[in-house]
Amino acid sequence: MTTQSEHRPQSSQSSQSPHGSQGSQGSQGSQRKRPAVSVDAPLTGPRPERMTAHDVRRRLEHARSTRLTQLHALDETGQGGDDHLMSMQRSAIERVLKEIDEAFARVEDGTYGSCLGCAEPVPAERLEILPYTPYCVACQRRATA
Ligand SMILES: [Zn+2]
Repeated sequence: MTTQSEHRPQSSQSSQSPHGSQGSQGSQGSQRKRPAVSVDAPLTGPRPERMTAHDVRRRLEHARSTRLTQLHALDETGQGGDDHLMSMQRSAIERVLKEIDEAFARVEDGTYGSCLGCAEPVPAERLEILPYTPYCVACQRRATA
């Protein structure tokens, strides 16, 4: 009977870092602690390239199918519910669907990505969030003011 009491492979060596959860971060113990680089900020990274028409169409397709699903869900769950609220949601979704259609048309004729208000290019970050928007932020604000 050989009981290996001395030779454990995984010995708990020494008392290392106090916070052992973050792996190899090297604790420079100063007052200011920065969070490790962007685990949760996928949308804000710099995007040097503009989306291709193909990308744009995919995004628009996705946005459209999402809205269509929402419309459908409204029909299903909204039976006998709050009519007023429902029709507000419905018309909001339909408005977006219309914008998506118009965005498709702009992709076709090559004007997609330019603001309808000022003709400046709409920032790519904005198009990532709202691929169907026809306006830059400033013009959108003006339009909805
Ligand atoms: Zn504009």
